[in-house]
Amino acid sequence: MIIVVDKAECVGCEECLRVCPRKIIFMKNEKAEIVQRTCDKCERCIPACPVKAIKTVSILLNESKI
Ligand code: SF4
Ligand code: SF4
Repeated sequence: MIIVVDKAECVGCEECLRVCPRKIIFMKNEKAEIVQRTCDKCERCIPACPVKAIKTVSILLNESKI
């Protein structure tokens, strides 16, 4: 499982940047982006997003390669 930002829904409020304990969310073209390699999957950013743009995604790939 990974945590991703749906860029179509992100409104660039930067609320998720504030709550991430690892500070691994950054802004790119006014949309939030999560550094997958260092994300703890603590899910704190998910309820922090006012437009529910942050989601968990199940993946079949080998997660160690992300
Ligand atoms: S799941 Fe946790 S570590 Fe990962 S981006 Fe969200 S708040 Fe940061
Ligand atoms: S909290 Fe949601 S809308 Fe705000 S920057 Fe993060 S992903 Fe985008």
